Amino acid sequence: MIADLFNLDRALTPQERKRLKAGTTPKGYAALPGTGPAGETCGSCAHVVRRQMARVYLKCGLMRRGWTAGIASDVRAKAPACSRWAAPEATEAGS
Ligand code: SF4
Repeated sequence: MIADLFNLDRALTPQERKRLKAGTTPKGYAALPGTGPAGETCGSCAHVVRRQMARVYLKCGLMRRGWTAGIASDVRAKAPACSRWAAPEATEAGS
């Protein structure tokens, strides 16, 4: 890797190094995305939570114990539903 060649890792602060290692892919899914009902997404799931902080973070309510204040525990609204997807309650849709 070119970063290793120039030893760029030494130029990073510990916080930058940690952020780089964590990556930018959300990892807060309750199960593997794409294993749920076809055509459904996290955005249409009853378990999705819109958490208002400095900005809005989408979280899976089933993964509440692992929530962070950042992207590491996020889900994406357009991610294909996982096997634990649940339909929003009929009363919410009907009102
Ligand atoms: S589909 Fe629902 S249960 Fe699955 S990760 Fe997304 S919000 Fe959580």
